[in-house]
Amino acid sequence: MPLPGIKPTWSHLLTQTGEFATCVELVTSRGTITERSGRRVLELARLLAQDPRIDALSITDNPGGNAMLSADTLGTDLLARGQEVIIHLSCKDWNRNALQSHAWKLASEGFNNVLALSGDFPTGGYHGQASGVFDLDSVGLLRLFADLNAGLPPAAGGQGMGRTRFFPGAVVSNFKRHEREVMPQYFKLAKKVEHGASFIITQVGYDARKQDELLKYMAWRDLKVPVLANVYVLSLGAARFFHAGQIPGVVVSDELLALAEKAGASADRGRAFFLELAARQCAVARGLGYRGVYLGGHLKYEDYDRVLELEAGFGELDWRDFARELCFNQAEEFYFFEPDSDTGLSSTEVNREYLRSKDRASQALPLGYRVNQWVHDRVFEPGTAGFRAGRRLYQALERSGDGLRRALHGVEQALKIAAFDCRDCGDCSLPEIAFLCPESQCAKNQRNGPCGGTRQGQCEVGEKECIWALAYQRLKTQGKEEQMLEREVVFKDGALQGTSAWANAFLGRDHRAKTTEGST
Ligand code: SF4
Repeated sequence: MPLPGIKPTWSHLLTQTGEFATCVELVTSRGTITERSGRRVLELARLLAQDPRIDALSITDNPGGNAMLSADTLGTDLLARGQEVIIHLSCKDWNRNALQSHAWKLASEGFNNVLALSGDFPTGGYHGQASGVFDLDSVGLLRLFADLNAGLPPAAGGQGMGRTRFFPGAVVSNFKRHEREVMPQYFKLAKKVEHGASFIITQVGYDARKQDELLKYMAWRDLKVPVLANVYVLSLGAARFFHAGQIPGVVVSDELLALAEKAGASADRGRAFFLELAARQCAVARGLGYRGVYLGGHLKYEDYDRVLELEAGFGELDWRDFARELCFNQAEEFYFFEPDSDTGLSSTEVNREYLRSKDRASQALPLGYRVNQWVHDRVFEPGTAGFRAGRRLYQALERSGDGLRRALHGVEQALKIAAFDCRDCGDCSLPEIAFLCPESQCAKNQRNGPCGGTRQGQCEVGEKECIWALAYQRLKTQGKEEQMLEREVVFKDGALQGTSAWANAFLGRDHRAKTTEGST
């Protein structure tokens, strides 16, 4: 093992150097750190911390939606050893106050590197399944970190806050099959970068063409942040698990599973094969121009050591052959760019069929959608005569007794429950998601783009299409899909729950009014 040395900070490494970075993901255990499994993770973490080839250790936050030991417990030990640590913070178990409080705790304790995630939907819990919180999403959380870094302004006459020094990262779920999944993921990536993501980590995946496409798409959109390629070291069990779609957003194709089954039948249960595969993925990531790799898997220190050793032994151009072999895509998978026949990877020519499909976009929208759009454009769009009339009406209602107000709220509810399965949140996002309700039809209440969990366009929870995939299709028929996330970050205001969304829109109390100039 190489001798330990002083490691640069994660932010310095990614922003001030051109060095290829290596980060290892650590999954904490269940129970206290003194349990056998906790001690095993701690021991592994300490060995990795001593290895100068490992630049950062990234610690998960209740992965898979299960309760695990807090990332900070392990992180504190590693920080004290001079190790760069990335703490994951996901929105599934914490509301915005808890996230903010935790952010202050992390900043106070010297944790600057954080990874903002919406998170997997909870799958288990003490005495039954935990409820998902999703008060913020990954974009809202990035915005919170950005605001903390800028120094929060004084609240209610108090003092402003000092600036924090967070270096926030985010994830892109880029191994999707359908256009209606891929494009919204790319749009959301741009939104994450716009709102402060300082580095990006890809989802786990085994398709070098999609990996190549991501970097080319980012260059095409001028998204200039360092990107790390996720290299999850498979085992036969993990390959079967991923192939069965058990981890939302992670794909192992039939072809890759067949290889894993074959390797798994060998005397070492495929260990040599899987470590070599991971080393080749690292080489491909380096060759494609990724700023580093993000290694994960249920491994021992010796396994990480072997992957890095193998990768270091490859020739400079070997990655090109590896990349051709590492294109485990899905049937009829959508790519934004045409293939490059020379490399087997991505060209920079936009998918010709995709462009043709934009030209062919028909007006075959459901009647209900067209009616909603028509009403919205004439009544709820600030600046229109309908909006001014609505505002006058609701201003008059504010001055009247409760009876009329309640009656009109009842009418609103009767219409909106029937049309949208409305949950009376009072802070309506229907016009922003092609008239699909994020409260009733999105398990994670996502208002700033899709989570990474779709499987073949379906929501990771239940058996229905993802609302963002549906919204993309609706908007595409109108040629508006590329603008679907082009707005201020939406923060639902919990204070409006159970109040009239119409009143809140006309009287400037909802999120749109707070972020739209000239709405009053
Ligand atoms: S509807 Fe889409 S964004 Fe919402 S939880 Fe399901 S997959 Fe995620």
